[in-house]
Amino acid sequence: MIKKVRDAYTSLHANLRAGNLGKEGSKRRIKAESKPITFRPQAAQPYDDRCLSWQYDAQTVSIWTMAGRLKGVRFACSPNALKQLIAHRKGESDLVERDGVFYLIATCEVPEAETGEPGSFVGVDLGIVNIATTSTGHRAAGRKLNRYRRRQVALRAKLQKKGTKSAKRLLRKQRRKESRRARDINHRISKTIVTEAERTGRGISLEELTGIRERVRLRKPQRVALHSWAFAQLADFIVYKARRAGVPVVFVDPAYSSTECAECGHIDRLNRISQALFTCRGCSVVAHADRNASRVLARRGQNAWDAGRTSHVPATSPSG
Ligand SMILES: [Zn+2]
Repeated sequence: MIKKVRDAYTSLHANLRAGNLGKEGSKRRIKAESKPITFRPQAAQPYDDRCLSWQYDAQTVSIWTMAGRLKGVRFACSPNALKQLIAHRKGESDLVERDGVFYLIATCEVPEAETGEPGSFVGVDLGIVNIATTSTGHRAAGRKLNRYRRRQVALRAKLQKKGTKSAKRLLRKQRRKESRRARDINHRISKTIVTEAERTGRGISLEELTGIRERVRLRKPQRVALHSWAFAQLADFIVYKARRAGVPVVFVDPAYSSTECAECGHIDRLNRISQALFTCRGCSVVAHADRNASRVLARRGQNAWDAGRTSHVPATSPSG
């Protein structure tokens, strides 16, 4: 708290010095000088290593507060997160209060692994019915999440109509809860995809996100808000986990990936019989539509990687 107060007053004084708040004696300046600085109670509170120390073995922290030193404050985290903390925590931590729960957000500097040469690529098709389908056979169904979201939308509409202060507070709480839930799901899906790619020596091929937004936009407008940020977050998680594991990621143009045949390359809108079913009119192969799309993306990823690699090979100069 002290540091934050000091920071705030430093910036106030800097503002005063720079004349940002008007001349000496001006109404605006007197107001700024006489008004005590207030803090939003829920704003993040930064702590550096002098004000907050970590005892990893005991899973506790010691914090300097207005009331003195608070010792042995327990924190909870997953075993993996604890490993990360021990190995890589560095710099300031933020203390945040949300809905009565205190969160300590630590900064970890994790070195990136060296990127290997992939044997092939895992294509990842993103969608609403199936959040992610990979060419290697993994499918993360969105049924549960979609049902949950529909309930949230209904609840939100009700609360918005009410418009009272407590309804608004509940609305904020719901929104945070929903984004925490999506975040959790995205963490799990991205981990599964990256772990598998790493284990099998593959790269990851993702569709460019503009493509996803376009595609989602073609459907109901409310879905754009609901889904585009979640897809962007999933892609972000995949990219950063892949970087840590040394798995290369390429982004490819997803145009026609849902109507192109992964077997023979025949593109026809009629290949896509329904949301789930793909039947090629060229070679008559039958496949799950998302699985087929993920295989198309995998091949495009391989092509993009090959094209990028050959362009990096120095041109041989003709002799003589
Ligand atoms: Zn075909």
